[in-house]
Amino acid sequence: MIKYKLVCKNCDNFFDSWFASSKEYEKLKKLKHINCNNCNSLKVEKTLMTPSVLNSKKEKSVIYKNEKYAKIKNTIKEYQKFIKKNFEYVGEDFAYEARSIHYNNNKEKLKGIYGNATAEEVKELKEEGIDTEVIPWVNQNDN
Ligand SMILES: [Zn+2]
Repeated sequence: MIKYKLVCKNCDNFFDSWFASSKEYEKLKKLKHINCNNCNSLKVEKTLMTPSVLNSKKEKSVIYKNEKYAKIKNTIKEYQKFIKKNFEYVGEDFAYEARSIHYNNNKEKLKGIYGNATAEEVKELKEEGIDTEVIPWVNQNDN
């Protein structure tokens, strides 16, 4: 016995049907003995994947996504290392400090700064012509 997932081209109904073999399916199809269990249309076709194949594909794609996420996370961590080494952390004062550097031409601060800012603050800074970049951030202890 073989189970096929069938689709009706007329009403987009998906349904499962059992056949003795793939040959039997072809035979019944030719004889127009396979019709939609919803609208009785004969425009019924076998979907490319049987349910079991569909499941394994699903699992694979989840693993793939996780791997991808781990890679991105590592990239972000590399950024973080670089930023922590080369930039000064100003925390919640980011918008204030960024303005102070921009408007006072604060040469004492040779290092760049990084910190927290709201989306609104970033938007305002950009409008004032202050160069800011938003990067994703992950917690170091979050694995
Ligand atoms: Zn139908």
